[in-house]
Amino acid sequence: MSQPPVQVSCYCGRYKTSVTVNCSSPAIAKAPCHCNSCRHWSGGLYVYRLPIIGTPSSTDLLKTYRLSTVSTKWFCPECGSHIFGQTAAGWAVNPGLLDVKELQPAVEIVGHEFVEDTGDGGFTTWLSKWGGKEIPLWKGEENKSELLPPSWPGQTSQNDGPEEEKLWAGCHCGGVSFYITRPDDASRQPRKAPFPESMTPKNFDNQKGETWWLRAGGKKYMAALCTCTSCVKATGMDIQAWAFVPECNIFMADGGPLHFEAGTLKKLYSPTAEGSFRCFCETCGATVFWCADWRDGVVDISVGLLKAKGVRAEDWLDWERRVSYVQYATNKPLLKQMETHFITTPWPDS
Ligand SMILES: [Zn+2]
Ligand SMILES: [Zn+2]
Ligand SMILES: [Zn+2]
Ligand SMILES: [Zn+2]
Repeated sequence: MSQPPVQVSCYCGRYKTSVTVNCSSPAIAKAPCHCNSCRHWSGGLYVYRLPIIGTPSSTDLLKTYRLSTVSTKWFCPECGSHIFGQTAAGWAVNPGLLDVKELQPAVEIVGHEFVEDTGDGGFTTWLSKWGGKEIPLWKGEENKSELLPPSWPGQTSQNDGPEEEKLWAGCHCGGVSFYITRPDDASRQPRKAPFPESMTPKNFDNQKGETWWLRAGGKKYMAALCTCTSCVKATGMDIQAWAFVPECNIFMADGGPLHFEAGTLKKLYSPTAEGSFRCFCETCGATVFWCADWRDGVVDISVGLLKAKGVRAEDWLDWERRVSYVQYATNKPLLKQMETHFITTPWPDS
């Protein structure tokens, strides 16, 4: 069964095409991949794509990155939007790009693959059931590897071994490499960085300079999930995970201060939100930072790039339990399944 063609466009709007999503039943069964490679080339916590019929009409404006001998991805070199993946099975499109409010046909998450790579279960901990049924956790490839027990790995100790002083982060191709340090006196300086939407609706004003990015008694940084149109388009995925870290705690691999155009980083100002910008790797396309000229020293970092023992990095991050901009989500059924862990409804007055 095939659906009518759907429009696909990247974040900057330079690349536009239409594709026909291929599905054999009313829903497209998908098993998001949680492997280290997928997290590091995307910046997200998982990756899946929707199979399309045939080949895209044109890919001239896109750049390729070869993930392995059997898998290539295509992204917009201007904005970093991940558009297509190509494997022996054919072409597939990233779900965040479809120009529909809800994915049609519906996507059903029927498994999680390469879960062992996450260390702590990663996103599977928040998306453990679909329609009340436990989602199988595959250690490696779907249907070809061992199943891990539900809720794997269960409670893990966050305090085994000495506390690391640096948390490294980087993209798949290695062109972007940096680290963050533990909160210190400089991180506690008041900054007028506006509150994020996940904390306050509409009124983002932080006149008193509250240090909202610090949590757990000032020992961890805040992290949150976002489904705003810009995050979804820029990543090509249906949800993006950000860590909020003061600029003074981010260092490039050589120990120098954060530089938004270091190495293969490319900085792109938002076409709609004045002064805000995103940075991605121009070689592998990984989404790296979001920030704004008016943001007063707090930077959003793609959590998928962090190289912590567990991918939720809970030794460093404290997760806000509300998803931002859910009214713009392209995949509302997925949010519905996450309700036991997150508030997935818009602010009452928005
Ligand atoms: Zn683009
Ligand atoms: Zn993968
Ligand atoms: Zn890269
Ligand atoms: Zn967003």
